[in-house]
Amino acid sequence: MRLTTVLVLLSAAGMFTSPPGAAARVQEVGVTVEPFRVVGNIYYVGGQFGSYLIATPEGHILHDTGSGEMHALVVSNIKKLGFNLRDVRIMISSHAHWDHVEGHAAMKQVTGAQVVALGGDAEALESGEDNSALGARGWEPVTVDRVIKDGDTVTLGGVTLRALWTGGHTQGATMWMTTVQEGGSTYSVAFRGGEIPNAGVQLFDNPRHPTVVDDTKRTLERLAALEPPDLFLHNHPQNPPPELDPALPVDPRCVTCLDAEGWSSYVASVKASFEAMLREAGGR
Ligand SMILES: [Zn+2]
Repeated sequence: MRLTTVLVLLSAAGMFTSPPGAAARVQEVGVTVEPFRVVGNIYYVGGQFGSYLIATPEGHILHDTGSGEMHALVVSNIKKLGFNLRDVRIMISSHAHWDHVEGHAAMKQVTGAQVVALGGDAEALESGEDNSALGARGWEPVTVDRVIKDGDTVTLGGVTLRALWTGGHTQGATMWMTTVQEGGSTYSVAFRGGEIPNAGVQLFDNPRHPTVVDDTKRTLERLAALEPPDLFLHNHPQNPPPELDPALPVDPRCVTCLDAEGWSSYVASVKASFEAMLREAGGR
C-alpha cells in the first residue's frame, strides 16, 4: 500500500496549507491504491484522494471522483472489484474542490450517472470554477442533474444517504450519512464533507464566499451537536487506526472508527483551528 507515503504530504486535518504548492506536490505523486471493501457495501476506489463506491442491487453511488489525474485509476478500481461502470447511477461529492470533483465530467461521460450536489457546490460544478473562499483551480464544467438542500436524501437500491450541509470549506460542502450492515450489526457511516476554510484564505469580505465565517460557525455547531458516527470516512484518507474492531472487515479509512471521543476531539480540534484563523484575521 503506497498510500502512506502520500499521506505525509497532507496535513492532519486533510486540508492543504498552501494550495499551489500542495497541488504541485500531489501531481508529482503517481499513486496506485488497490480497491478494497471498507465496510458493508462501501468500497474504496480512490487513489491519493478519496473515492468511495456504495454498491446496491439496483446500481451504485459514487462519492467523489478525485482529481482529473485520478480518473483512470477510479475507473479501473471499479472494474477490478467486478462492478460495471454503467451501473454507477449517481455521483455525489464531499465538496467542490478540484481534488474531489475534477473527475466528475469524465466520470459522468463514461457512466451516464446523475450528478447530485448541494447549493453553491452545484453552481461551482456547473460553472467549472471554484467558488469557495479558497478559489483554487477549476475543472471541466459538468451538468448537475439534481440540486439538493440540507437534509435531502439520495436513495438507490435500498440504500439511503442523507446530506448534512457543512458549508464553510466550500459553499455546499456536504457530509453524507448512511448506515451499513456488517457481521449482523448496523453501523452509522459519515463521509467527510469539510469543516473549515483552507488555511490562509480571506475570511472577511471574501468576494467568492461572503458568508464563509457564519457558514463555518454553523457547520462547527452542527458537527458538535451530532450523534458521533460509528465510522467517519475521510476524503483525504489517512492511515488506518491502530486498533480495529475485529467485527469490521478490512482497513476502514476512518478519521474515527467506533470512537465517539475521537469524533468529539476531531471536531474540537478543527474548531480550535478556525478560532486561531479568526484571531489572525483580526478577531472579529
Ligand atoms: Zn477542499
